[in-house]
Amino acid sequence: MSEPLAVQFANTVGSRRSSRPQERISDYPALVEWGVGAELFGRTEAARLLAEAEARPAEAAAASARAKALRDAVYRIFEGLGEGKAPATDDLDVLNAALGECAVRRRLRQTSQGLCWTWAEAPEADLDWMLWPVAYSAAELLTSSSADRVKACPGEGCGWIFVDQSRNRSRRWCDMQSCGNREKARRHYHRGRTAPETTSPPGS
Ligand SMILES: [Zn+2]
Repeated sequence: MSEPLAVQFANTVGSRRSSRPQERISDYPALVEWGVGAELFGRTEAARLLAEAEARPAEAAAASARAKALRDAVYRIFEGLGEGKAPATDDLDVLNAALGECAVRRRLRQTSQGLCWTWAEAPEADLDWMLWPVAYSAAELLTSSSADRVKACPGEGCGWIFVDQSRNRSRRWCDMQSCGNREKARRHYHRGRTAPETTSPPGS
């Protein structure tokens, strides 16, 4: 099951808690590429946004800076949630500002399944409209019954955010193959070093 959009966006820094975090939203084109990968829009819309960005580089730079500020605020809110901490006022302010932007663009549309939420047509001027669904997704998750299932992976240097969907809420790692196995290997190594005389017979 894929993570909510806001969680995917919060995880656009890899190895966040390490000394060498990997920034995936390094510039505006990277933000647009993320939007394509998250299926917020297709290649045609991406090309339009990139053309707009080329014509207005300062606004594009501001849009990617806003994206990172929102991303980091949402990350800290999610991270705190996993530790049972209330969000910092500054972080909530950043998210609320983005929600204010997105609220004026929410629309209802009739579909064959009835009415559903959608977005107003993105005006040409908006280079950062991909942040609206992110902000909305964060608010949805934070107010949902899954809010207390949000966790940050405790793997060394990791900090990856996920929603623990396991029945007994026992999931610890972003991924058992990477962080889970690394931790197992480390525990094994430490056991081997701290108590060799009890785990293996002398001379073996
Ligand atoms: Zn991890």
